[in-house]
Amino acid sequence: MNRELHFTQKLLAWHRNDNKRIMPWKGEKNAYKVWLSEIILQQTKVEQGLAYYLRFLETFPNLRDLAEAEEDEVLRLWQGLGYYSRARNLHFTAKEVQAKYGGIFPKSSTELIQLKGIGEYTAAAISSFVNKEPIAVVDGNVIRVLARYFRIQLPFDSAEGKNFFREKANHLIDQQNPDLYNQAIMDFGATICKPKNPDCAACPLMDSCLAKQDNLISELPLKTKKVAIKKRYFIALYIETSHGIALQKREEEDIWKGLYQLPSFELKAFTKNLELQVNEILKREFPAEHFKLIELGKMQKQKLSHREIQIVFVHLKSQNEQILSDSYIYTRNLAKFAFPKVFILYFQSKGII
Ligand code: SF4
Repeated sequence: MNRELHFTQKLLAWHRNDNKRIMPWKGEKNAYKVWLSEIILQQTKVEQGLAYYLRFLETFPNLRDLAEAEEDEVLRLWQGLGYYSRARNLHFTAKEVQAKYGGIFPKSSTELIQLKGIGEYTAAAISSFVNKEPIAVVDGNVIRVLARYFRIQLPFDSAEGKNFFREKANHLIDQQNPDLYNQAIMDFGATICKPKNPDCAACPLMDSCLAKQDNLISELPLKTKKVAIKKRYFIALYIETSHGIALQKREEEDIWKGLYQLPSFELKAFTKNLELQVNEILKREFPAEHFKLIELGKMQKQKLSHREIQIVFVHLKSQNEQILSDSYIYTRNLAKFAFPKVFILYFQSKGII
């Protein structure tokens, strides 16, 4: 038996022998539910995504319900998951599939990939799971397993590497059971051939794994690029006014688009004298206003994919009766709005929500 066939058969046998991770979307043939689970899991761990998946299905049991929802409602439900463009795309695509395809997802991966928020991986997952299209999913788990088992020493993030891994994965897929094969390799990567400390002793492929034979496990897969992390600095004002707490909606093409925040101001950097920086902002933005400083908070951090957000929360009380700005929303119920995670943590630390 050739090496490729051996790999595929061993993997399917491992999966058949009850090594499956139990999840509600496994074996699902409803395209809406598969799509929903795949979008939620794009940058989220299964343990965290599960509760969101169930909550979304409870609120929007089918595509039409999601298509007809308000974007704010979708974002509020998504709150805490991060990468909010996923939620906006989810809503956009629900409306598009409803309007353009009569509420039925297209069947092939080439058509699915035309929809917003659906990339190569997600298209392959949906079309193989729902319609048994023999197209392989290629994500970090799959790349790791293939790179190690076949000792592939091409950087997976180079153009050549990407093509190579895609072709290899498509060559290996079981034509009769592409759904089971894709599920098997994803589960195998997540539970056995893990990034750190793979469980080689429990691996059905150990005897023929080339990385194991050559002691290359910790070096594979190879990567070329190191993505630079950009730091951004914000002062966020928690202002108590006689009309409620002041909020802004983030409308620009930037992080957290569509979410709400406390009035926030970006700086080039924090200096040693933070209070002075805060006073400069207050003087510039609210020249006629008087504030009482309640608390100058400590710097908080939130890591996004290529950015690190550093943010200082300042608790103020407005001494005037008039509103601070027409562009703000004033509320006494913060729980009604969707916020970025770092804001939620701040509210929770103050016992506000
Ligand atoms: S032997 Fe270890 S490194 Fe090789 S495929 Fe199995 S778990 Fe991965």
